[in-house]
Amino acid sequence: MVDTLTPVLSAIWDTRKSWTLKTYEQHDGYQALRQALRTPRSELVDAVKASGLRGRGGAGFPTGMKWGFLPPDDGLPRYLVVNADESEPGTCKDTPLMLANPHVLIEGVIISAYAIGAARAFVYLRGEELHVYRRLLKAVADARAAGYIGNDILGSGFDLDVVVHAGAGAYICGEETALLDSLEGRRGQPRLKPPFPAVAGLYARPTVVNNVESIASVPSIVRNGAEWFAGMGTEKSKGYGLFSVSGHVKHPGQYEAPLGITMRQLLELAGGMREGSTLKFWTPGGSSTPLFTAEHLDVPLDFESTAAAGSMLGTRALQMFDQTTSVVRAVLRWTEFYAHESCGKCTPCREGTYWMVQILRRLEAGKGTEEDIDTLLDTCDNILGRSFCALGDGATSPITSAVKYFREEFVAGTRTPARELFPYRASTVF
Ligand code: NAD
Ligand code: SF4
Repeated sequence: MVDTLTPVLSAIWDTRKSWTLKTYEQHDGYQALRQALRTPRSELVDAVKASGLRGRGGAGFPTGMKWGFLPPDDGLPRYLVVNADESEPGTCKDTPLMLANPHVLIEGVIISAYAIGAARAFVYLRGEELHVYRRLLKAVADARAAGYIGNDILGSGFDLDVVVHAGAGAYICGEETALLDSLEGRRGQPRLKPPFPAVAGLYARPTVVNNVESIASVPSIVRNGAEWFAGMGTEKSKGYGLFSVSGHVKHPGQYEAPLGITMRQLLELAGGMREGSTLKFWTPGGSSTPLFTAEHLDVPLDFESTAAAGSMLGTRALQMFDQTTSVVRAVLRWTEFYAHESCGKCTPCREGTYWMVQILRRLEAGKGTEEDIDTLLDTCDNILGRSFCALGDGATSPITSAVKYFREEFVAGTRTPARELFPYRASTVF
């Protein structure tokens, strides 16, 4: 058994009533905030830079560098926005984090807002997650009653208001500029970048947009020091992260481990594949990242190694599929999702995802042609790099990688329906 788990964010998840302020305070909660409020703002930004923390929402942009892009304080409002719109298929780390320990996020929000000089912070949550919304509202109310939010926090002179906002449930609102439009009350569609939000974000003011897990990692960096954080992980992918293992494994769940751990190690921690299951393919970071197969089990799960192996670390949503899964059906389901969630702003994604669904449906039904496979790849080629935001690019990843590794299954889709090749059974994921 490998012994590489690093429970920091998940340290108190198994504690009774882990989500309450009382439990959090009993485990040193809000001590980092007290420490931070005695520290000059620039030192906090430097500490986050030195820690090497990279965005945990998928793209891996250095968090401290993003904070450093804010223009000098001009006395006018600037904002912190937490992207809690977790919607990438297979991604399920921020939701359990907010449910099991909302206060670590709130403490991170207060420290980060103080560091960047924001007097107002927003947490933008998926509209469907009413249970998480209620939990966050209660946690913010409790933190406010305890003097951690509001005016003159803990006698420091720092004022902060925190607003929890529930969106209406659109995948595109996880794209940071669409999120900002939605927060401003508009239809959520991506904005042209640059300017990046750090320069002109919410209400055209400087805004830092960070993922839940990134912000929740800040208190532990303040408490333990940048060196402690940077001591974990790999040379360029520092620290630890939540790895969400799902699919045909014995023990699906969240495994918090240093970046650079391999899927083989995680699979061992997750009890291996289920009885009778053999690994066929998996996603390293949700369905927007190119598929991996059993030959990639030893690829270190960090930003650089996953890219070198032809995929991306993404959101560390490790969906494991066994030999009973039709890759054509899986890819069709994901593509239907992208077509449904495409915001329609740009032609390659709006039209391309629609046509890819039509082709994949034919192949899944055993009614495709060999020409369909070429048209599918050609459509991907015309979406990739030509779309306005990452949604379009992401939609092509499962298709191109699936054809690369399992072309024969797509060819079989010109003769035989997927339901005959891969009959449904109780554990069928797709
Ligand atoms: P991106 O690389 O364009 O940007 C990442 C972050 O860095 C953004 O906050 C951006 O503002 C900032 N940034 C980049 N260059 C900058 C610059 N020059 N100056 C200032 N700031 C700069 O990626 P993205 O489009 O924001 O996100 C794509 C990623 O999102 C994908 O890799 C995918 O893994 C992930 N994703 C996550 C989910 C989820 O549910 N968590 C869903 C879909 C996609
Ligand atoms: Fe909208 Fe898709 Fe274009 Fe993104 S790529 S702007 S989601 S149509």
